[in-house]
Amino acid sequence: MEILDILILGSGPAALCLASELAKQNLIIRGISTKSPQEKWENTYGIWASELEELGLESLLSHRWSKTVSFFGNGESKKGNIPTEHCYDYGLINQEAFQNELLKKCKGIKWLNETAKKIVEKNKISEVVCFSGLKLKARLVIDASGHKSKFIKRPPKNDIAQQAAYGIVGKFTSPPVKKSQFVLMDFRPDHLDSVELVSSPSFLYAMDLGNETFFVEETSLASYPALSQDHLKKRLLSRLKNKGIEVSEILHEENCLFPMNLPLPFKKQFVLGFGGAASMVHPASGYMIGSLLRRAPLLAEKLAIFLKDPNKSSLELATKGWSVLWPYELKQRHKLYQYGLQRLMSFDESRLRSFFSNFFKLSTKEWVGFLTNTLPLPKLIYVMTKMFINSPLKIKLGMLSLNRGFIFSNHQS
Ligand SMILES: Cc1cc2nc3c(=O)[nH]c(=O)nc-3n(C[C@H](O)[C@H](O)[C@H](O)COP(=O)(O)OP(=O)(O)OC[C@H]3O[C@@H](n4cnc5c(N)ncnc54)[C@H](O)[C@@H]3O)c2cc1C
Repeated sequence: MEILDILILGSGPAALCLASELAKQNLIIRGISTKSPQEKWENTYGIWASELEELGLESLLSHRWSKTVSFFGNGESKKGNIPTEHCYDYGLINQEAFQNELLKKCKGIKWLNETAKKIVEKNKISEVVCFSGLKLKARLVIDASGHKSKFIKRPPKNDIAQQAAYGIVGKFTSPPVKKSQFVLMDFRPDHLDSVELVSSPSFLYAMDLGNETFFVEETSLASYPALSQDHLKKRLLSRLKNKGIEVSEILHEENCLFPMNLPLPFKKQFVLGFGGAASMVHPASGYMIGSLLRRAPLLAEKLAIFLKDPNKSSLELATKGWSVLWPYELKQRHKLYQYGLQRLMSFDESRLRSFFSNFFKLSTKEWVGFLTNTLPLPKLIYVMTKMFINSPLKIKLGMLSLNRGFIFSNHQS
């Protein structure tokens, strides 16, 4: 049986981002995926335009907004409806163009329509057994099969917080957002009754797509247990109704659910992960596409170097790979973000509004760096400290309700 250098599991954004970089190395690579890599991705991916610009990929945006705002007021008085203006471009990725662009770069990599059932390491080599009975051998298996991967080992955690959202792309009786506007977070709670006001908060993420079409999505940033799709749908419709808006045509519905604080995987395991499987979602925002694009090139280069040593086992190769993917600096940043998320999840809606209103008073460079995970560790600590110092007392108290075990015990071994 042929022994591949690398076998990739999956054909989502993580698999294709990494495969497109690995294809530049002189390696024997194959992919297997439950879905064909040509099958259109279902999710709507949004990103700050600068993240693509820095990589020369801004042409992959299908939509781009300069009028980017949020609402953190109570929605009741004139003052409670004043938007926070972000003055920073946001965009939606053209999934088809993005997928095709990555596939074009995956020269020489073939995907088989297979689903991995089991992976074992034998005599330094990994063997993947598929549900069809097919067996494939590789020096290194990279699991990019998403957040629900069964192959990546990590410390157990029961109370995994999920980001959940219910969205509609459609037409409405009147515009849910202003012309050419993008709303990152509309936290105004004036449509909520007294019961909803004290349950887990959610916000509206919305955009004008042109042609009288809008995307509106009720989003729970992170919650354990997760808010159900039904609950979010009801909140979305009541938010719209409160403004006298009804849905007149649904073109697409989005059901979103993924983990925000999956523990970092163990370093010592013979399978390497990438993407959702490798806990790469930003724990404070839920974004990942920018990170995939930024982190794939170095990982691909290093893996090609490690593979030059023919004696290295799958365990050694994957362990080295994990060190590149999750170096000390990124692990520390991840811990800080997870700590922040844990605190945010304990905030009621009024405290959350106050927190975000204060957060966006940071300089653009600082809040963008925070949300895209591009601030070096000392700068991230500085920004978080600055945010704390400038916070109103109720936020300071919320941030200080420390669960020391959380921040100090979440080590990758
Ligand atoms: C609805 C939604 C919207 C999101 N929006 C954004 C956004 O706007 N911006 C952003 O940055 N992030 C967003 N995210 C977060 C994150 O970027 C996505 O979850 C992203 O799709 C994860 O990429 P992935 O490649 O790791 O996993 P997936 O996209 O889930 O891909 C997994 C792949 O693995 C295959 N597979 C699964 N199991 C096996 C197996 N056993 N064997 C072989 N193949 C297998 C699947 O068929 C699939 O091809 C969103 C997530 C969701 C769910």
